[in-house]
Amino acid sequence: MELTERQERVLRAIEAARTATRRTSEFIHANPEVAMTEEKSSAALADLMEEFGFDVERQAGGISTAFVAKRGSGRPVIGFLAEYDALPGVAHGCGHNLIAGSNAVAGIGLAAALEDLPGTVIVYGCPAEEAIGGKVYMAQAGVFDGLDIALTTHPGAGGHTFNPVSEGTGLSLAWQEIEIIYHGQTAHAAADPENGINSLNALLFVFHGVDSLRQHVKSSVRMHGIITHGGVAPNVTPDYARARFFVRAESLKETAELAEKVRKIAEGAASMSGARLEFILPHPPYADQVPNYTLQRGIKEYLDMLGMQLPDATPEPGRGSTDVGNVSYLAPTACAGFPITEGLVPWHSTIVHEAAGQDSSYEAMFTAGKAIALVGLDCLEKPELIEAARQEWRSRLAAREG
Ligand SMILES: [Zn+2]
Repeated sequence: MELTERQERVLRAIEAARTATRRTSEFIHANPEVAMTEEKSSAALADLMEEFGFDVERQAGGISTAFVAKRGSGRPVIGFLAEYDALPGVAHGCGHNLIAGSNAVAGIGLAAALEDLPGTVIVYGCPAEEAIGGKVYMAQAGVFDGLDIALTTHPGAGGHTFNPVSEGTGLSLAWQEIEIIYHGQTAHAAADPENGINSLNALLFVFHGVDSLRQHVKSSVRMHGIITHGGVAPNVTPDYARARFFVRAESLKETAELAEKVRKIAEGAASMSGARLEFILPHPPYADQVPNYTLQRGIKEYLDMLGMQLPDATPEPGRGSTDVGNVSYLAPTACAGFPITEGLVPWHSTIVHEAAGQDSSYEAMFTAGKAIALVGLDCLEKPELIEAARQEWRSRLAAREG
């Protein structure tokens, strides 16, 4: 593929930022900070953006470790979603230090095209992907308002990182967390059991109810729970029992319907046991990922051009969840996966943390950054590409909400 002058300019800007970007990514790797404590990581990345001429708003949306780094003005607005949170116990076991570097450098590269093109380039510093969902709260606070196109990256295992370019690929599940609490009455479990109200029994009914519900949901649905409080002693009737459930389905709408069914089960269990129910949705849901194959095909084209040839993904239901989904409900969104290990490894592990700090992974990080920067450039140059991506996005969103 013959590169245009602008494409070369974007790639040159990325090369010029290579040393500073790698240093920042290494710093984040060496200072793993879990969700909502990413003070050093977000500051380091925000500083990098300032060094390359971006106007940075820290604590974006009132979230202490979020930021918005902006260059240019007017439409279209092309955004890159950087993440930097680590995982408890396994440090950068999801490689988010590489998501930080690749998205930052993509923004720096694409900003070089603003010399002679209108538009705005934004790098969003998105905390807490692994818990709570920083983007969920950033979206609620309006941080992504006005965004035309969102692009991002994610590392994966070698041989198991794919290009999702066809129908039914690259999906994730919407996800709602639920807390279920029962309040009962203690009694001597042997001497005066008739005076007790057993809150643990209520919780056990919930687990049975959810397991029965499992027969009558789509096979893509996931429901899993744990008991976090189940009593203090066998001879004291439990007056307090508590469980945490995650329920996941193909769309926000389906997930909300599922959470309502679990609420009915919990209400039934309260009636059966006599315990008083508290049913809590502690966080707004992660949305499922609305795929955008118009943009994904662009990513594939550039990854191929840059020598990172990944197999095409095969259609399968989403399994995990990501808060990138919440952005994908607001604007057409696409993600470049890039492999950082030789073969399949357990994800969310110290093996991935080690891999996320090796030379070849930093190389892959720059390749992914270049690919999404070039897709961003296509969007700046071709309004018809944005229109095609938005048309696809509108119809997929309508199908989810219909
Ligand atoms: Zn991740």
